[in-house]
Formats: sequence, structure tokens, C-alpha cells
Amino acid sequence: MAPEPLNALGRHLALAGFMGSGKTTVGTVVAERLGRTFVDLDDEIERRAGSAITELFSARGEAGFRELEEEVARDVLRDGEPAVIALGGGAVLSERTRLDLRKRAFTVLLDVDPEVAWERVAGSGRPLARGEEAFHALHRDRQPLYEAVADAHARDVDATLLAAAGVHVEVGAIDELGELVPGDGPVELVADAHVSGIHGIRAQVALGARDVEQHEVPAGEAAKTPAVLERLWTTLRIGRDGSLVALGGGSTTDVVGFAAATHMRGVPWTAVPTTLVGQVDAGIGGKTAIDLPGAKNAVGAFHWPDRVVCDPSLLTTLADEERRNGLAEVVKTGLLAGEPLWELREPEQVRACAAFKAAICIQDPHDGGPRNQLNLGHTFGHALEAAAGYALPHGRAVALGLLAALRLSGLTDEARVVEDVLAPEPVRVNRDAAWTALARDKKAERGAPRLVLLDAPGKPRWGVEVPQDDVRRALDELID
Ligand code: NAD
Repeated sequence: MAPEPLNALGRHLALAGFMGSGKTTVGTVVAERLGRTFVDLDDEIERRAGSAITELFSARGEAGFRELEEEVARDVLRDGEPAVIALGGGAVLSERTRLDLRKRAFTVLLDVDPEVAWERVAGSGRPLARGEEAFHALHRDRQPLYEAVADAHARDVDATLLAAAGVHVEVGAIDELGELVPGDGPVELVADAHVSGIHGIRAQVALGARDVEQHEVPAGEAAKTPAVLERLWTTLRIGRDGSLVALGGGSTTDVVGFAAATHMRGVPWTAVPTTLVGQVDAGIGGKTAIDLPGAKNAVGAFHWPDRVVCDPSLLTTLADEERRNGLAEVVKTGLLAGEPLWELREPEQVRACAAFKAAICIQDPHDGGPRNQLNLGHTFGHALEAAAGYALPHGRAVALGLLAALRLSGLTDEARVVEDVLAPEPVRVNRDAAWTALARDKKAERGAPRLVLLDAPGKPRWGVEVPQDDVRRALDELID
């Protein structure tokens, strides 16, 4: 049998759960966030049969209704275009539907306390919600069937999006790594040398006997070299039944992800990002890469991690500058999402930002469309970093880049937020060098810079051609 699906990439995302668990409410928003069609199975049944569920129930009896439900579920699940599908509470009673789900969908079980569910549906006139005691008994009966189809559990929109991408966010999750790394095969742990000394032992203990080998890569960006990759290629022992676990910031997950993409023509991997940048951005979405001299991220592959384990408690040991780098990405994400995510406490920040990135990347795993929005502020940021010979902290460069993008978008209030939250100081670099770097940026086509701008918070536009003079002026304002 084919291995269990570990994410909703390129396949239906089905929402299962009891009456009142919020499948329609959550499903509608999740579909919108994923840019997918939302199909409510009950609505689809009513549309096809031309009458309401209550009428179908009384006219056909429950057995007759279930037959119809099974037919419609089969058709919906067979439709090729990946959708978000809210299943009726009883749809999982059908063995055929359970099999179809296993084959054709990634199924998230929306957990709900039965008392809450009863409050939501009591008096709704639903055929199976007419008495509280019977309702609770039905919940108990159905639970094992829901568990049987569930690839993951969730209670809200963000948790559903995270589950759909294979991302697990939880304080203390590092101690559960043994269970969180999918499968039961052998694992090789590859850690940033600095992080290894701080958190490596906890990861090893949690992985237990599964951890057959440990490797270290140089701390930070120095890990992303052909030499480090070659060392990994020549020392890795696992076959395709095993997997790699990357413990470190974005530099580590980038190189280890690339090693996983290429070792034995591809093995599964789990990312355990230990920086704020890693947890809200770099660890998610399957882009992996190493650098070549003078060319960042020049060689890489798309290789989606089977799981991403974000433990916000690992961030307590992070240096201030690294935290500021992450905060710039949090502000960027909040601007794209149209929510002040930077105001949340760190664990909630990680959860919301990771869910945002997960949704965009499921929509566009190969970076051909909506994922472009994640470059907000980065075109200017990269130009400043290049002009500074990469001596400029990434967070400061992104913060300045956000300022420029917001000013060009005419969003002065949001520009003020960036100033208040990130306080970016202008940089002292050569203006012409920065301009040349910006024009060379891969987002420039035929010399006219293509930018990500915002029509409003939460309303990004990418590939926007902006007059050169305006771009140059915005860039100059960032330079001391
Ligand atoms: P990093 O991995 O370069 O690490 C920065 C420093 O923080 C290192 O010295 C490291 O040892 C230290 N560190 C990491 N975790 C720590 C912890 N918990 N406690 C104490 N110290 C810790 O930093 P980063 O900002 O996460 O990653 C930057 C890299 O990520 C860049 O190479 C960038 O290209 C890449 N990136 C990739 C993607 C992607 O989608 N693949 C997205 C964004 C960035």
C-alpha cells in the first residue's frame, strides 16, 4: 500500500468531524487561504437531489440518505482539481468513502468538545440533533470512525493550514521528536554546530534509538557550501527507508533539505527550525539551497519536508540580532496577512506566521505565482545587502526594504508601524552600487524593477512595474 499522505499538497483537503465542529465555517476560510474551491458535501447533496437534507432524510430514511451521500462523496473526491471538502458528520460511516478519503485526500479531523457542539446545533432542526443524550451517544460512537480517517487533528483555521502543510507548532515539541518525525525508520540528525551544543542533546534523547548517526554543519550561513554538502553526501548512511532531521536556523534547513533532495535521489526529511526566521519562514515550503561564491541560493531544489517541527521555546537562546531578523519577517507576514501579527506573543506569532506561509506555499509550491508576495521588501533589502558586501544584518535590510515598499504603496500608517516596531536605521552604502544590485535582481525584467506592493494591508500585488525614478528615489531614502 502507498504510504500515508503527509500533507495536502496537490490533493484534496477533507475536513471531517462531528456536527457542530465548524467544518463549514473553518472550511470556507481555509479554502480562501489556499485559493481552492470549497465544497460542502451536504450542499452538494441538496443541489443534486433538489431537496433539503431534512427532507431527504424523511423521504429516504437514513440508509437511503447515506447511499446518496456515498455517491456524491465519491464524485467530489474523484474530481481532479484539489479542493477543500467539508464532509457531512456521518459521511465517514461509509467504508467506501473512508477508502476514497485515504486514497484521494489529506483528511483533517476538526476536534470539538461534544458540549460545545451541542450548544451550536441544538434547535437547528438537524435530523440527528434532536436530543442531547442521543447526541452525546452518537458522538461517542462516531469518534473511532473519525479517528480512522484522520491524517491530522485541528481546532481552527490556522491549525488546519499547518496540518495541511505538515507543520507542527508547539512549545516543547522538541521533546516529542521521536513521534513527530514520520515513520519508524532510522534517522540521521544534522545540526548547526552552535545549536547542537545548546539543544542537540534534547533532540537526540527525543529521537532515541531511531537516531543512528549525528552530524554537525558549520553555524549559520557557512553551512550552505558545496563542501559541506559533499561532506554530508559522503557520510550519510541511511537509505530511502530512513530520513534526515535538520536542527538549526534557515541555513541548516536549507543545506540539509538539499542534501535530502539529492542523497539517494531523494530521502524524506524533517525540519526543526531553531530561529525565528526559520520557524516563521525558512523551514516551511520546501525551498532548499546552497550558495556559490558571490551567488546566494544559486543551487537548490524544491523538496517539501515531511514534517516541520517548530518549538518556540528553542528561541529563548537566540541572540538579539537573530530575533530582530525574525521580527522583520513577522512584520512582513503581518502586512501581507492584514493582521498585526507582530503584536502577538512569540509562540502565537510563530503559529500565525507559519500558518500564513504554509498556506501560500501549498498554493504555489514551485514559486510561480502567489509565493512572489513573500518577497515584499526583499528586492530593496537584497540590493542593500549586496551593496554592503553582506555585512548588513538581514533583518535590518528587510526592515528598510519594507519601508520602501510601503512608501511606494502610499501606505504611510504602515510605514510608521515598521519604523516603530523595527526601528531601521538608514545604511551607509554606495548608492550606485545599491542601484546596480537592485537592477540586477532577478525580479527586474527588461531593466524595469518588478516589485511587490500592497494595495492595502492584506492585499498584496506582485510583478508591479514601477517607474525607475520612483524606485531610485525610494532606494536613496534608505541610504545614509
Ligand atoms: P542561520 O541559520 O543562518 O543562523 C543564524 C545564527 O543563529 C547561527 O549562528 C546559529 O548558530 C544561531 N542559532 C540558530 N538557532 C539558535 C538558537 N535556538 N539559539 C542560539 N543560537 C541559534 O539563521 P536564519 O536567519 O534562520 O537563516 C538564514 C538563512 O535562511 C539564509 O541563508 C536564507 O537564505 C535562508 N532562508 C531560506 C528560506 C527558504 O524558504 N528556504 C527563506 C528565508 C531564508
